[in-house]
Amino acid sequence: MADIASTDALSSVRADAPRISFVSLGCPKALVDSERIITSLRSEGYELSRRHEGADLVIVNTCGFLDSAKAESLAAIGDALKENGKVIVTGCMGAEPEHIRDVHPGVLAVTGPQQYESVLAAVHQAVPPSHDPFVDLVPPQGIKLTPRHYAYLKISEGCNNRCTFCIIPKLRGDLVSRPAADVLREAERLVAAGVKELLVISQDTSAYGIDVKYAASKWKDREVRARFLDLARELGTLGAWVRMHYVYPYPHVDEVIGLMSDGVILPYLDIPFQHASPTVLKRMKRPAAQEKTLARIQKWRQDCPDLTLRSTFIVGFPGETEAEFEELIDFLDEAELDRVGCFKYEPVAGAPANDLGAAIPDEVKEERWKRFMEVQQRVSARRLKRKVGTRQQVIIDSVGPTVAVGRSKADAPEIDGSVHVASRRPLRVGEIVTVKIERADAYDLHGMAVGF
Ligand code: SF4
Repeated sequence: MADIASTDALSSVRADAPRISFVSLGCPKALVDSERIITSLRSEGYELSRRHEGADLVIVNTCGFLDSAKAESLAAIGDALKENGKVIVTGCMGAEPEHIRDVHPGVLAVTGPQQYESVLAAVHQAVPPSHDPFVDLVPPQGIKLTPRHYAYLKISEGCNNRCTFCIIPKLRGDLVSRPAADVLREAERLVAAGVKELLVISQDTSAYGIDVKYAASKWKDREVRARFLDLARELGTLGAWVRMHYVYPYPHVDEVIGLMSDGVILPYLDIPFQHASPTVLKRMKRPAAQEKTLARIQKWRQDCPDLTLRSTFIVGFPGETEAEFEELIDFLDEAELDRVGCFKYEPVAGAPANDLGAAIPDEVKEERWKRFMEVQQRVSARRLKRKVGTRQQVIIDSVGPTVAVGRSKADAPEIDGSVHVASRRPLRVGEIVTVKIERADAYDLHGMAVGF
């Protein structure tokens, strides 16, 4: 959950302006939606409040991906109703308004994901904007909920895949790609405002542009096609770190590895494999062929030895047999992925996967999850240890009295590990320094700044 109080969105508070308290739940894609809504509200003269109490209105941007996320969203709406009373709900859960109204009939309005205009219309109705000419309080890069030195860059909405465990396409619709020039202009503004790292996100980053047949748009003096490879190459010219998230394992992903080995974008690929057993992958409606995946990983690493691979997996998928689970464990051992997240399957209402096999009992899911994590922890620790003695570039996220904490090119914010940096001179947040790695533990690295 993003905490508005930690952002710079609260500067320049005007006493008479309507005040809005905002709760942002869910993934980075939802966070970008929140940023857009807040940017529009601030440009219309609304102020943000740190507390529900005393605000004129509360907006809750919900997440409906898993049942646990839905429960968290419903609880956040309940708190807002109790502490304030005037509540507008938006985001993924807004695609099923009856579920919200069943529990909280008192909400003022419910709008779906990406329905920015509907959210604003609901806000205008509940609390009209004040007519003050002095409304130009929004910086050109918009309002960001992330720290100043990194930003999420959303390149498309929706998804054309139909993974059987996922209801996102139902909630957010089919793929809609932004023109490449729009994305690049936004990225350029962010970099001009001090952003050092761009995190490219979408539901399916490698599908970028398929819906618009890779249409070109004009940026600077050239035409740039809405194509994963072309966009990545242009983003790499802006002088910031560019990190690719949510890359579905299509064959053409192989093409961007060259940009990584050439240093154009970060050698980092967040590629959710979800499973390794061909039969489970088939039931998941994900691309199968585990041997091919292993061969591809090997080739990627040959072409780009510094490549960091992050992935996510699901254990306890309906009907998952012990043999299928063991295929996954064998894959983990062989693939040697650097960073891995593992989820126990949750039967999200409306997901076709729920009917594709017998539900796996919770205790079996738990046991498989533990076995999975044990194997992966060993793999991750082994890979981290190889970095001891090397020099890594590290972007500083926070500074303390004795050590600063940052991330190497191998670590995305929030989900990966950190590098703890000792330094003879004080470090600044957002600074990129060279660090000699002295020690590794299960998730993090420790070292000394040697180049500034
Ligand atoms: S790629 Fe699959 S899991 Fe990801 S959003 Fe699309 S349907 Fe859902």
